Amino acid sequence: MNKLPENLQLKYNELVLKNYSLNMARGKPCEDQLNLSNDLLSMKLYYESCDGVDIRNYGQLTGLRETKKLIGELVDISEDNVFIYGTSSLNIMYDFISRSMTHGVNGSTPWCKLDKVKWICPTPGYDRHFAICEFFGIEMINVPLNDDGPDMEIVESLIKDPSVKGIWCVPQYSNPTGITYSDEIVSRIAKLKPAAKDFRVYWDNAYCVHHLYKDDQEHVLNIIDECKKTGNEDLVYEFVSFSKISFSGSGVAAVISSDRNLDFVKKQLTIQTIGFDKVNQLRHVLFFKNKENIMRHMMKHAEIIRPKMDLIDEVLSKEVKDFARWNKPKGGYFVSLYVDGKAREVINRCKEMGLTLTDAGCSYPYHKDPSNSHIRLAPTYLSLDELKIALDILSLAIKIECN
Ligand code: PLP
Repeated sequence: MNKLPENLQLKYNELVLKNYSLNMARGKPCEDQLNLSNDLLSMKLYYESCDGVDIRNYGQLTGLRETKKLIGELVDISEDNVFIYGTSSLNIMYDFISRSMTHGVNGSTPWCKLDKVKWICPTPGYDRHFAICEFFGIEMINVPLNDDGPDMEIVESLIKDPSVKGIWCVPQYSNPTGITYSDEIVSRIAKLKPAAKDFRVYWDNAYCVHHLYKDDQEHVLNIIDECKKTGNEDLVYEFVSFSKISFSGSGVAAVISSDRNLDFVKKQLTIQTIGFDKVNQLRHVLFFKNKENIMRHMMKHAEIIRPKMDLIDEVLSKEVKDFARWNKPKGGYFVSLYVDGKAREVINRCKEMGLTLTDAGCSYPYHKDPSNSHIRLAPTYLSLDELKIALDILSLAIKIECN
């Protein structure tokens, strides 16, 4: 190891001796955020839904009508096209790919019988999306994710290949770069005519109401409506979740799609389950009631998250602006930090000083960041005081490695 300048070495020694154990690896809400929804735990429930369904019993596979209505309102879609499906949207996405593998898509050849299945992965992207593809042996193709969405020239060319079966999209406040797709990109996606009839756009709208500012919000064109305009209704599966609205992993998650797509899924789901958790579905409706209340609730989340995003920007601007670049998101959970060719080294240095970051390369298929530059910062879980220390460690690691 090259000798460090004395001032950096002293600071490094000092931080190592503190024995910190800080974790900025995952996008988890902090306790103050979870406390915003505590009334969900003690609320008085009725036994019956608005349609007279006994929520304590089996049945109502696609979800309670009032919960579908609430989710439909959230993403501006008719409740008839909302299918509520447990408590995790990632689980739905996994299940959709798994079903396509074993039973195809709306009657197509099961993907497991094909020589090759390929997937378009805008990068940097969500590591758990890529993990699903890797798990099923789907070959991932990197496509740059620009500030307005995926590079559509490349996407339009890739879909001419019939073995390309899908694309991951996080259209709003994307994980991890925080960008939102422009209207032009959304309408280009809605007009795609892939060679594979079983190609689907996996539209993961995980951060659809996760604005950080009241007066400076980004909005995404309604992809389902855009698809209808071009006779492309079956192209998209949209996923939403309450994981970062109420309780992570204990919210309500849903898929939204065309009648034909949902009918195909329903036939198989009747074998997989007798029904999802309707108690939780009703609880969410009674707690939130309507979109207006959800938006108000999300502003309370924003009050907690925004100072953390501000602090990142402030400290990095002061300490490392000559060595790194980063985004300041208007919503969502993540900041993408770029240190040219030194991401792995910076992450390892942070670890030595007691700060765990997401692994290098995590935001790229097969964990391979071609330029070893990207670091995902997930600041929400730490308190502001802990985040200050974490940023102190991170800044020092960057100064040491990028000098
Ligand atoms: N999709 C994206 C883009 C996410 O960032 C996350 C969580 O970080 C999820 C899905 C997970 O959602 P759920 O808890 O509903 O499975």
